[in-house]
Amino acid sequence: MTTTRFAPSPTGYIHVGNLRTALMNYLIARKSGGTFILRIDDTDPERSKEEYVDAIKQDLEWLGLHWDRVERQSERLDRYADAADKLRQMGRFYEAFETPTELDLKRKKQLNMGKPPVYDRAALDLTEAQKDALRVERGNGVWRFKLDQQRIEWTDGILGDISIDAASVSDPVLIRGDGQVLYTLASVVDDTDMGVTDVVRGADHVTNTATQIQIMAALGFDHPRFAHHSLLTGPQGEALSKRLGTLALRDLREQGVQPMALLSLMARLGSADPVEMRGDMAELIEGFDVTRFGAAPTKFDVQDLFPLTARYLQGLPLSSVADAVAAAGVPSDLAEAFWSMARENITTLNDLEGWWILCRDGAEPLIEDEDRAFIAEAMALLPEGPFDGGTWSAWTQAVKEATGRKGKSLFMPLRKALTGMERGPEMATLLPLLQVIRARG
Ligand code: GLU
Repeated sequence: MTTTRFAPSPTGYIHVGNLRTALMNYLIARKSGGTFILRIDDTDPERSKEEYVDAIKQDLEWLGLHWDRVERQSERLDRYADAADKLRQMGRFYEAFETPTELDLKRKKQLNMGKPPVYDRAALDLTEAQKDALRVERGNGVWRFKLDQQRIEWTDGILGDISIDAASVSDPVLIRGDGQVLYTLASVVDDTDMGVTDVVRGADHVTNTATQIQIMAALGFDHPRFAHHSLLTGPQGEALSKRLGTLALRDLREQGVQPMALLSLMARLGSADPVEMRGDMAELIEGFDVTRFGAAPTKFDVQDLFPLTARYLQGLPLSSVADAVAAAGVPSDLAEAFWSMARENITTLNDLEGWWILCRDGAEPLIEDEDRAFIAEAMALLPEGPFDGGTWSAWTQAVKEATGRKGKSLFMPLRKALTGMERGPEMATLLPLLQVIRARG
């Protein structure tokens, strides 16, 4: 039975980078009929905010990434305390008292000597009396996990065979001086308690994974399968980390990006398979294979989401967008005709309102000086209305006969006079929707 989890920290809105992680875990669970857990990593009481928990849920719901249950780390602190006690009893946990400045100095010295900046384990040599004195002077120390200095190996679902020398990694701090349990320990306990079988997360977690594998082994747990996806970069390969704030899912939603466009892109970007526009979640699940993803950084261009959104919308019947059409102000008796016209001409549903305003109020006519007499003559031939699907061809035929104009010199001035634009919808479809013809003068 497959169990996966998406484990955001509720310290901000989730963005496209988080989405990639969420989606992969979701698809793996759904593809195998397993369980998908939403785990809220809220062990940091200062930075975790309830509003972000709500926002994360809203964003996932918007995308249709439904979870089977929610777990919260803040409700599991006793489990982490138990694990910490176990590690202490085993002699795998030690208290260290260096200040951040001292640690920084040590790192700089090591780097100057051409050595990797790994914690030197000085705290292991402290006597009980020295520790007592330090506690009085500095308060409680942090608790570090004592790594076994051997190679840590696993077969990664994306990166392949990985081997990391534990001696090149600092003993991780699992509990802070103020008693706060850190993610590395909490995650290990959760993944085990919750029977997580597959962990997919960003490549920035590879070192974490190495230490977590050892912590799990120390606690007598089997570790799940791990897969680390590459990190997203901007279109030119530039780091995206600073811009992720502007790529929050809620901003994309505001801009009119459709969930299926976003999901279709994210389910394939960075894999060996091409991006394909999927119609629904079932198709997305069917076409997903985590092993097809590569280790190279993945270029992401937010602009790609707009043509995909347009393509997706073009394929939808009115029933799928009826709310948006009504919200744009279109009366229900015109909705069907309006949608047939609009769907070819919008990028996002946010564009509907502009098209409806054009239909409702009529466009500011665009008439070249040399066309003035022609347009006046044409307008005199335009029937009163209501217009229907045949009006445009009957009218332009009559105008052609009366004026002798044909082809572009016939159609273009009429289009510009009625829509104020040189390009746009099929005039035969648009004309019956125009409630006002301002070019009539
Ligand atoms: N809260 C962690 C993060 O957002 C979870 C990482 C993991 O998936 O284990 O980075």
